[in-house]
Amino acid sequence: QRVLVGGGTGFVGRYVCRTLENAGYKSLIISRNPKTENHLTWDEIESTGLPENLKAVINLAGEPVLNPFKRWDEAFQKTIHDSRIGTTNLLKKAIMNSKNPPNVFVTMSAVGFYPPDQVKLYDEYSSPTTSDYWSKFTTNWEAAGKFPSDFNEVRHVIVRCGVVLERDGGALQQMLPSFWTGFGGRYGCGTQWFPWIHADDIAGIFLHAVENSDVEGVLNGVAPEANTNSQFANTLGTAMWRPSLIPLPAFVLRAMFGSPRSSMLLEGQNVYPKRTLESGYQFKYPTLESALTKIIRSK
Ligand code: NDP
Repeated sequence: QRVLVGGGTGFVGRYVCRTLENAGYKSLIISRNPKTENHLTWDEIESTGLPENLKAVINLAGEPVLNPFKRWDEAFQKTIHDSRIGTTNLLKKAIMNSKNPPNVFVTMSAVGFYPPDQVKLYDEYSSPTTSDYWSKFTTNWEAAGKFPSDFNEVRHVIVRCGVVLERDGGALQQMLPSFWTGFGGRYGCGTQWFPWIHADDIAGIFLHAVENSDVEGVLNGVAPEANTNSQFANTLGTAMWRPSLIPLPAFVLRAMFGSPRSSMLLEGQNVYPKRTLESGYQFKYPTLESALTKIIRSK
């Protein structure tokens, strides 16, 4: 059976496709730069619709937000928007127009749905009463994938993802050089929450959403153990047998990224995967120590 994966060439996409393939599925990837025969373009989906006989459609596309070389101007904000909300909308329409729709549409979202807060504990049942730039953005991102109420043929699952950890991509790949050289440490004051998930677990949650016909709605893609940014830096330093004493000051991050991007690093939210666990997903790496030890010490 085939699964169509928008953004399947990316860091998370590679883990999701590998996990799908290990479970016996064939992944078809939507990419701006098709390289192999299992790659399709967004234009092809828009003009000819979905391929036949799909078990599921997944969307993981998104222009990287924390690129220090990109200024946070209107053009870049539009690219951030279109690459997530535009592609999700396009896939939703293609699913609704398909004669033989897939069983499920699984879309990516982020823990930024919950506004940063030092005290609150958020789970999928929380409905935040305040909003900031990222909570508004993710609300629109999630809405782009929702089917109208009279279209019940396809399940929609939304995965609100924390920082995905593995050495070959994402935040950890950026941090490893400074930690190896002994210059690693927390971001800002370090008391902010740092919701995280191991790459194998985020891929596992996508597979779980594809395979279980009773899974629908929001699943938090974060590990059950809550950690602050300082705890993250210390655990990473310990796993690497390196000190983790040199903080990256808040003013440096603000100068590099400006607002609202620096708030992703300097503020955080305490997020628990209540519904993910209730739906029967079992985490391979429930604690930060188990995740980082596996990542750092395995070849
Ligand atoms: P990557 O940057 O590694 O990959 C994203 C993919 O999106 C790319 O392979 C690319 O595919 C496609 N893409 C990039 N820019 C555009 C664009 N302008 N228009 C259309 N497609 C584009 O990201 P990740 O795999 O790390 O993240 C995947 C998604 O998950 C993103 O939406 C991200 O916001 C979200 N997320 C990631 C987290 C993380 O820690 N990594 C945490 C929370 C959410 P191609 O070049 O083949 O077209």
